[in-house]
Amino acid sequence: MIPELDEQDIRTVAQAILDRIDGGLGWRVHKIRTPEHTFAEVGVGPAGAGEDDLYWGVYPLNVPRPDAIANLASNLQDHMIEATWGQALPACPGHTHPLNPDVIDGEALWLCPAEPGKHREPIA
Ligand SMILES: [Zn+2]
Repeated sequence: MIPELDEQDIRTVAQAILDRIDGGLGWRVHKIRTPEHTFAEVGVGPAGAGEDDLYWGVYPLNVPRPDAIANLASNLQDHMIEATWGQALPACPGHTHPLNPDVIDGEALWLCPAEPGKHREPIA
């Protein structure tokens, strides 16, 4: 079990990621579970989705927070790109590819994968 505060933080971070990726999916955070003490799993999906229909992302608990955020963003991004049949989400301004989650100088960022200096923004 993880402390209530951490779970609320993960929920807030996960919702920020879903809202940024968007894709017109309107996904939200449904459930957070901790099958192991080293990571939490965040279940997301459309409003009204049943537990069997959720998509899961991993939020590692044994790494620095920015790395955990980037990992969760990458997992949720994969699910949302798949759910939209390959849309570039979140779109990189001026390019046809999606932004890439990464950690630079201790900050979790969405980055342009082709020219990292061109576009960067905090993930959460
Ligand atoms: Zn780009």
